[in-house]
Parts: sequence; C-alpha cells; structure tokens
Amino acid sequence: MENKLFQTLNEAQRHLDAGFAHLPAHPVPALDEAASTILQQVATRLRDNYPYAHPLYAGQMLKPPHPIARAAYALAMSVNPNNHALDGGRASSAMEVEAVAALAKMFDWPQHLGHLSSGGTFANLEALWAAGQLRPGKAIAASDQAHYTHSRISSVLGLSFVTVPSDTDGRMDLTALEHLLATQAIGTVVVTLGTTAIGSVDPLDQILTLQKKHNFRIHVDAAYGGYFTLAGNLSRETRAAFDAIPHADSLVIDPHKHGLQPYGCGCILFRDPTIGRLYKHDSPYTYFSSKDLHLGEISLECSRAGASAVALWATQQLLPYTHGGAFAQGLESGHTAALNLYELLVKSPHFFTPSTPPQLDIVFWTPSAATPEASSVFAQAIFDESAQNDLHLALAQLPTHFFSPDKWKDREINDEKSTVTCLRSVLMKPEHLLWLDHIWQRLDAAAVQVTTVNTSTEPA
Ligand SMILES: *Cc1c(COP(=O)(O)O)cnc(C)c1O
Repeated sequence: MENKLFQTLNEAQRHLDAGFAHLPAHPVPALDEAASTILQQVATRLRDNYPYAHPLYAGQMLKPPHPIARAAYALAMSVNPNNHALDGGRASSAMEVEAVAALAKMFDWPQHLGHLSSGGTFANLEALWAAGQLRPGKAIAASDQAHYTHSRISSVLGLSFVTVPSDTDGRMDLTALEHLLATQAIGTVVVTLGTTAIGSVDPLDQILTLQKKHNFRIHVDAAYGGYFTLAGNLSRETRAAFDAIPHADSLVIDPHKHGLQPYGCGCILFRDPTIGRLYKHDSPYTYFSSKDLHLGEISLECSRAGASAVALWATQQLLPYTHGGAFAQGLESGHTAALNLYELLVKSPHFFTPSTPPQLDIVFWTPSAATPEASSVFAQAIFDESAQNDLHLALAQLPTHFFSPDKWKDREINDEKSTVTCLRSVLMKPEHLLWLDHIWQRLDAAAVQVTTVNTSTEPA
C-alpha cells in the first residue's frame, strides 16, 4: 500500500516539476548516508507510539489521514506554499477557498466567510473573538461538556464565561440555559455538536427556539462532530440538531478529526460574510500582487500551511461530501459500530452502560461493581489488560450522573460532582465496524480476566 502511495506521488511530482523545467537547473541538497541513518533513528523513535492507524486502536480521537491527503500534502511540500497571502501560495489559496466552500455547502450555508486554521482551538478563538466584538460586555455560555478550550479562550480574550450544566445524557440542559438567559447578560451560546468526551449533541434546534425570546448569538462547535451531518443513520433528535446548523452564526469543524486530514487543519465559518470587517488591518508589506482576497485578510493567524488546503482539496475530490457517498458511509459505519458495541455492553454482566445509546461514534461504560470507586479500579485494570492484548481503549473521568443511580448498590452520596473512571472508545475509523467482533472478544476476555483475578480481593 505504502509502495503504491510513493509511486503515485513520484509520478505527480514529476508532473509538478515539469511546470518549472524552463528554469536553469539548481541542485537541491540530496539525502546522503548520514541522512539515511538519521531517518532510521527517526523510524525507531516513532515506534514508540500506539498503533493509531490500526482498527485495534479504538481509544482516543485519532484517525489516520487518507493516503490521498498524505500524497497531496507531500506533493505540496516541494512548493511549501504559505496561505497567508497570494504571493506565498496562489494555487493553494484558490484550493483553500474551494475546500472551505465545500464545507459550507455541506452545512447548506448559502453564503459564508471562512478559512482553514491550524486546528479547532484557533478556529474557536476566532469565533469567540468575533462574538466578543459583536456582543460587547456580554458573556459566553457553554455546557460543562463543551471543550475546555472555550473557557480558556474566553479568559485569553477577556470575556466573561458561564458554564451551563448538562443533563444526564451530557447535552446542554435547556431549563438551566433558559434560567441563565433570563438572569444574566449572555451574548453568545456555544452549542457543541459532538462533545469531545462522549459525542453528545446539544439540542441546537431547541436552543434556536430560545433564541427567539432571548437575543443571543449561536456559535456551533462541531470540531469533532460536524461531518456527521452527512450520516443518514442518526437518531431523530441528533438529526434535528444537525438540521438546524444553517441558523447558527458561526461554526467550527476540524477536517483533521473526521475529515481524513493530517493535523494542522481546522476551519472557521461565519454565516455573515460582512464579519470580514472585524479583521481589518493595514499591513504595509504583505499584499502587493493582487486585488483578489488574501486569506490573511480574514484570518488571525498569519503564516499557514498551504499544504493543508491542498490535502483537503484533494481528499474532497476523491471523497466528495455527498449524502450516501463513500465518505458519508464511513461515518455511518462508525455510528453503527458504536451502537453495536453499546448493545454488547448492555447485555454483558461485566459492565454498566449509560441509559441512552451513543449519538455519534463514541461509547463509554464502566465495569460493574458495588461502588463507583470499585468500578474505577476495574476500569483501569481492564484498560491495562486490553492493551496487553493489543486492544487500545481510552479512560475518561465522567460524572456518575451519566449512569442511573441504581447501578451501584453501595453508592452513598448522590453528589452531582462525583465522577467515575470509565472506559471509552472512539470508533472513528470506518473499519471499526468490521473489526467489532475482534474488539469485543478482547474486551470481554480482559473483563473476565480482571474480574476473576479480583473476586477474592475486592479492590481497595
Ligand atoms: C478537538 C476539539 C476542539 C479543539 O480542537 P483542536 O483541533 O484539538 O485544536 C474543540 N472543540 C471540540 C468539540 C473538539 O472535539
């Protein structure tokens, strides 16, 4: 597979080089013996990783870039364009504009202003920066399951930040939100479609109803979940939230999460193109070659990898964002794999599961035990035991209220803030569905192993 990738890349590289063949030859430094030795060392060092690209890696949010993204990125590296200004990357800037338009079209936005960024954090920073200017003196509100970056960004920007409690499914609690809107000056509500911990989806459709009564901006953080708008198998509630996206004011999506891209590829979209006025500046030196839009004029980041735009553009040509297409089917597989794993967990005597099935492709559960403390100890042990057998899961510290209170027979306090260590699996590779039996066998075996070892001695 790798061979084919390098062969295809070689052919494309020759074609690219031919475009500059009229220039006098100028030899570039060749890779010599020393370089080859160093690369071997690099390869040795890189073995110190989990096997992220393998389907038995089913832990954190890590999805390998598509081979076409790798090839296009590598090809662009020989040019190394900078999408800050057209002088630094004409072709890649044009490809960025097209790639971003494809994202906006996926969300049915008739018009937009947007660009790629180094990731979701910076894209969210731009959204909240704009929010702060458009609603001066008013707070940002996000749920306690929103990415922690929102409170940190708010502090960087000097904006006040309010946390909205989530319900037992990890979605923004509407009653709590309505109370906040009635009692505090909230300028912008951050609605997360696909939370980072459990993939829960805030009810955007119902938050829009509240917007009619209380005037606030809506920023959608769909860094993780955005692409699921293409999936045809979401629950009715989840679908309703995604279908409301055209009414949001701004949105963040990370092509480097679910869009098959290498890291360094986030995206911010504003529904109102006149937001561009906020970015106004007078750089004396950056722009002289053209009257066309320079992406640097609508971005807080200056130098940005043009190669990211090239890789994303190429991937979109191969796997367009169409309902029912191959890319959409990949997301549907992940959701099905998550539902199937959830069903297996529900039936198993070894585990406690939350009462509602996963909304996207992230599953969490905890080993059954008498107390949350004992469940936590077993979770760590099963995590370690699975890893011994090459199944890599993740651990997450989650509120006990995500599980029904009757799960633990010896649970004393009903503290809203109490947490339990959970096992967590992000089934974001399309192949995870095919591998689910293997994953389950290893997980089940680890649970049997851990619980039989521990039945004589209850964990402390
Ligand atoms: C990953 C993520 C972020 C942060 O994005 P980075 O690309 O890691 O900077 C923000 N919000 C959500 C919901 C995320 O899942």
